[in-house]
Amino acid sequence: MDSSNTEFSISGIPVAAGETREIYLKVSESYLSGSVQIPVTVIRGRQPGPTAFVTAALHGDELNGADIVRRLIFDIDHEKLSGTLIAVPVVNIPGFLTQSRYLHYNRDLNRFFPGKKRGNNAERVAFRLFNEIVRKCDFGIDLHTAAFGRMNLPHVRGDMTHPQVRLLARAFGAAVLVHQPGVPGSLRREATEAGVPTILFEAGETGRFSKRVSLAGLRGVLNVLSEMKMWPEPGRKRPPFQVIVKASEWFRAEKGGILDLETAPGDLIYKGDLVGSILNPFGKTVTQLRAPVTGIVIGVTTAPLTIPGTGVVHIARLKKTLPLVERSLKNQKKKRLRKLRKKARK
Ligand SMILES: [Zn+2]
Repeated sequence: MDSSNTEFSISGIPVAAGETREIYLKVSESYLSGSVQIPVTVIRGRQPGPTAFVTAALHGDELNGADIVRRLIFDIDHEKLSGTLIAVPVVNIPGFLTQSRYLHYNRDLNRFFPGKKRGNNAERVAFRLFNEIVRKCDFGIDLHTAAFGRMNLPHVRGDMTHPQVRLLARAFGAAVLVHQPGVPGSLRREATEAGVPTILFEAGETGRFSKRVSLAGLRGVLNVLSEMKMWPEPGRKRPPFQVIVKASEWFRAEKGGILDLETAPGDLIYKGDLVGSILNPFGKTVTQLRAPVTGIVIGVTTAPLTIPGTGVVHIARLKKTLPLVERSLKNQKKKRLRKLRKKARK
């Protein structure tokens, strides 16, 4: 979509080329009869170019994305931007206010897209966002954080069989790209199916900011905008390797007890490796946890307790790409050692 001379508006509020505007998009009403409004920053470049959305906190307790959007709004100057950027720091307002993943009635907003005008509350919120923002875009990035009690390696998810989604995912610059089109009703899946290729960035923990994650996310978004010719400077810093992972699975505890985990997001683990132990209250080992497959750890539990079925380690399986990952991790180690030796000599 050419943004130079066309009219552009959200919720009936026009934004001219070369203008940045803060808009409240009404999506619902509260128990106090007030409006529930999503804050939206529209940055419209003077130069023509694509229209993109960046959304965060669709799950109300996933705060990292809000920090990424804050940094993004601060960094993007409409004088240098080509096209239109729609930045939404918080989508799920009720969830954000109560620090919950969900909307009212425990509904997961990310299951109700593209929404319905006269549907249930979640469908109405989804409908407003989808029609006022998503459908007006050429592509999108949805920022998420691991669910409560879990921590993720920064990685990108999306339908990697879709050429444009794959292009966006590769451009973002994360090391691990997980082929996961998303469940029906999820924003990335429904947006992509509606002709707006969308990727999801998943990183960090709920309920807290991580500067490392925020900067990785900001860099990724700028990389994508630069790939799409919207932004002159990429966020830079290429990953040591980049793999598309087709299968990932949670390795689950079979026993109840206290968890002593010995692996972290980003670790390369081999089938049979010890990743942790489950102990009883006397400190005796109930069982040792050994990796069921070879792969890279993309998520771990942060809770120290398990019962049968508790997800402990999320492993992205590596097969053909294993040698590539091994090589680049080895090189990284060598580089780190060289740096340490240099420091020691000084
Ligand atoms: Zn989420």
